[in-house]
Formats: sequence, structure tokens, C-alpha cells
Amino acid sequence: MTQTENSSSSPIITVRNMSKWFGGFKALDSIDLDVNRSEVLCLIGPSGSGKSTLLRCLNFLEHYDEGEVRKDGVLIGWQEGDAKPRKPLKPAALREQRHHIGMVFQQFNLWPHFSARQNVAEALRQVKGLSADEADSRAMDALRKVNLGDKAENFPSGLSGGQQQRVAIARAIAMEPDIMLFDEPTSALDPELVGEVLTVMKDMAAEGMTMVVVTHEMGFAAHAADRVAFLESGRLVTCRPPGEIFGAEPSDARLRSFLQTYR
Ligand code: ADP
Ligand code: MG
Repeated sequence: MTQTENSSSSPIITVRNMSKWFGGFKALDSIDLDVNRSEVLCLIGPSGSGKSTLLRCLNFLEHYDEGEVRKDGVLIGWQEGDAKPRKPLKPAALREQRHHIGMVFQQFNLWPHFSARQNVAEALRQVKGLSADEADSRAMDALRKVNLGDKAENFPSGLSGGQQQRVAIARAIAMEPDIMLFDEPTSALDPELVGEVLTVMKDMAAEGMTMVVVTHEMGFAAHAADRVAFLESGRLVTCRPPGEIFGAEPSDARLRSFLQTYR
């Protein structure tokens, strides 16, 4: 990697003219988007607008069909070159790319028969090949970062939804990713548990983590995001600082009407 590609001013992720079909249905239509280093980018839009699909294309959980997704200049998922049809990376190469891209889902997907600490440590051992001691010590560091140092020995059944989601976040940050993707991380939570998860996410942002967050929490988007992208029907309608998205009169009629459902 050259100095320029890695400079702090260049975007970490570039999406260019990216489209994705499910059969004959075009779920993403010619998306262009940059994610800058250390920025929090929120994706908002109606249900079915393509937010999850876009997020999942960033780490190739969904295969985009056209265009490019690059991280630090390197094509994600597909082999470089002009071959048609494009060939996906070999599994080991794809895994290596994904190790640098953390992801947190709406459902926490913890192992039920492992403690919080074991959930984080096991992932570290499997992915990073760490020794048991090293994995345990890193797992504890990650759990402290999400304010769960005192719950490390609890099993998921002995944790609230908000705590389980924080374990899932700890599991992702323990891998020391370059960027974190969140798909509606608080949507499965009781309202009173949303705040503790958003607080942890704000802490991560303050520490400089690059984050792309699909969310319906407009308060979070308004206060924690550097930019907010609005999707509708697979198109990225606009991507602007939150002040311009949530300001008195957003210029775009579709955005206006979407935001009205939250007022
Ligand atoms: P959002 O996250 O904004 O609610 P999605 O990205 O999940 O939207 O979905 C965008 C569109 O693509 C929707 O119309 C959805 O029905 C469709 N879609 C998503 N995943 C699949 C799939 N695996 N197969 C077929 N259609 C899908
Ligand atoms: Mg979704």
C-alpha cells in the first residue's frame, strides 16, 4: 500500500457505481459513496430501501453485481481484473478482508453455552489464532470497553438484551477492525435498553472508530453522525451532514416525507 492510499485524508471505503440485483429485482442502483476515516456515517431510509443490502455489500456478505467497493483501495470480494463474469476471491482471501471489517447485527448471535468472556475469546482464538490466555485477556479488555467488565462470567441467558448486544460489540472490536458496520443494532431491544448500546457506540466514535450505522434512531443520527445517507428504492438520494438532513426544511421531497413519519 502506498503512503497516499493510507493517508488520513483518503476515504477508507469507496463505493463506485455499485448495483445489486436479487433475480430480476434491482435492490441497489448505481451507488456512489465514500466512507471517510474515523467518520460515523448513518444510513437511513424506509424499510426495503436497501440499507441492509448496501451494508452487507461492504463486506461481501452480499455479492454486488456491478461497480466497485474498495477498502483502502483494494477491491472487496471480487478478484481484480477485467474477467467477465467476475470471480470471487478465494475463501481465505475473503476471510482476511472480513477480519478488518467488524459487523454487528440486530440479532446478537451469541453462543448460548459460552460466557460473555468466552464468546469474545473464542472468536479471537478462531479468527486470530491467539492462545487461550491472550484471547482471555483481550476479551476482558474489550468487555471493559463496553462497560461489561463485571459481567464477563455471565452467560447470554443471564444478560439483558442491551448487555448481550454490548457483548456482540465487544466481540467485534476485540478483532481490532478498521471499520465497524452496524445493522439496526438497537431494533431488537426494549426501549429502555437502547441508550446503553448507543452510549457504547458514541464512545467508540469518540475514540476514532470508523462506523457505518443503519439506524432508525434519528436522535443518534442527528447527534452522533458526521454524515447521514438517505436511501430510497435502492438509490442513494442524498448524503449530507445531519444538520442539513434534519434541518427545518430538507430540500428533497422524499426525505421530507420519510422524516415526517418520525415526527
Ligand atoms: P432495508 O434494510 O432498507 O429494509 P433490504 O436491504 O433488506 O432493505 O432490502 C432491499 C430490497 O431487497 C427489499 O425489497 C428486499 O425485499 C429485497 N431483498 C433483500 N434481500 C433479499 C434476498 N435475499 N432475496 C430477494 N430479495 C431480497
Ligand atoms: Mg434492513
